[in-house]
Amino acid sequence: MKKLVSLVVVLAAGIMIAGCSAGENGQWYRGNTHTHSLWSDGDATLEEVGDWYHSNGYHFLVMTEHDRIARGERWITVGERGRISNQYLEDLRARFGREWVETRTNEGRFEMRLKTLEEVKSFFEEPGEFLYVDGEEISDGAEGKPLHFNVLNLAELIPTQGGDTIMENVERNLAAVNEQAERLGRTMIAHINHTNWRWALTPEQLADMRGTHLFEIYNGSTGCNNYGDETHPGMDEVWDIALARRLAGGGSELLYGLAVDDTHNYHSFTPDVSHPGRGWIQVRADELSVEAIVQSISAGDFYSSTGVDLEDVSHTRSRYSIRVQPEEGVTHTIQFIGTRMVDGVVGEIGEVLQETSGRSAKYRYQGDELYVRARVVSSKMHENPAAGEEAPEYAWTQPVIPDR
Ligand SMILES: [Zn+2]
Ligand SMILES: [Zn+2]
Repeated sequence: MKKLVSLVVVLAAGIMIAGCSAGENGQWYRGNTHTHSLWSDGDATLEEVGDWYHSNGYHFLVMTEHDRIARGERWITVGERGRISNQYLEDLRARFGREWVETRTNEGRFEMRLKTLEEVKSFFEEPGEFLYVDGEEISDGAEGKPLHFNVLNLAELIPTQGGDTIMENVERNLAAVNEQAERLGRTMIAHINHTNWRWALTPEQLADMRGTHLFEIYNGSTGCNNYGDETHPGMDEVWDIALARRLAGGGSELLYGLAVDDTHNYHSFTPDVSHPGRGWIQVRADELSVEAIVQSISAGDFYSSTGVDLEDVSHTRSRYSIRVQPEEGVTHTIQFIGTRMVDGVVGEIGEVLQETSGRSAKYRYQGDELYVRARVVSSKMHENPAAGEEAPEYAWTQPVIPDR
C-alpha cells in the first residue's frame, strides 16, 4: 500500500511540474550499493543481510564483498573460535528453517556452509518488489592509502590491479571495470568509496581521476569522516571543490554522489559499529530491473539520503526544482548550491545560491553557474549515525550544468 501511494505522488508531481525532464514517469526505488556479509568481513550471513534490507523498505541491494563474489562452496567455523557462535547458528535455524542451514564436521571443526548469492536471490527476489544487483568492492591501495571501488552489475570478479601512485592505481582499477563492461557488452558502473576514510583521496585527486563519475557523498561505516575535521573538508565541500575544478577548465564531466551504508555489523545498532540503515539512494526508474537501476544511477537520476524523502526532483533549461515529502513535526530547508564564474574567474566554491524553508523550492539559473546541485536539510537529527557523525538528516540531489 505504501508503494501505491508513493507512485501516485510521483506521477502527480510529474504532471504538476511542467517540463519535468528526467524520467517523469518513473518511480523511486530505494537501495544500498555497499554491503558486506560473512563472505568478507561482515558479521552476518547473506540471508540475514537480505532479510534486513528486504523488510526495511528497500527495493534493491548490492552485495559488495572485498575482492570476492559470493559464489562457489565456502564453509566457516562455528563455535568459540569460529566466525560465528553456536547461538548464532541456532538463531539462523530458527529463522530460516533447519533444512536451510547446512553444517558438517571437517578435520575436527564444526562448520556451516555460506549460502551463495544465487541461493539467497531465489529466497528474497520478487518482481517489482526486491532485486539484487551483482557487485564487488575492489579493495586496493597505494601510497599508504586505501583505494576502494564498488563495481555494480559485474559478471566476473575483478582482482585488484595495483599501481604505485594513487592516481595510477585508481586509473588501473577503473580501466579494468570498463574493460569488462566493453568486452561483455554489459552496463556496469563503479563508484569511488569513502574518500575521507584515512583521508585517502584529496578533492583535487577526486576531480582529476577519470573512468567513473560516481563517488560516495556519504558512507555510514565508522571512521569515514563524512563531515571532515579541523584540517580536512567534509564530503559536501569535497564535492564542490572537485566539481569546480572539473568544470572551470571548460570540462563537462560531472560527479554524482551516492549515500551508502557500507554495512559490516548486523547484531548491534550502536554508534561504534557499521550497521545498516544509515544512508541510501533513491533511484528513479521505469521498472525495478538491474538494467534500469544501473542506467538511472549512471545518468544521475537518483538522490542520496540519510533520512529525508523527496517527492520530485526536476530540471528544465531555466530552473531546478525540488519537492520534499512531508514528515510530521519536521521542517526542511532546501539549499541550492553551486559555484559561479565571476568576471572570468571561479567565485566562491560551493556557494549557497538560494535557501528556502518549506516543502518545495525552485531555483532559476543565472547563467554564470558552473553547476547547481541541491541539498535538503531536515530539522531532525540523524537517528543512528556512526560515532562522531552527529548531523541533521539530509537529502542530496545531483549537480547539473545550466545552459550558458
Ligand atoms: Zn572500503
Ligand atoms: Zn566496504
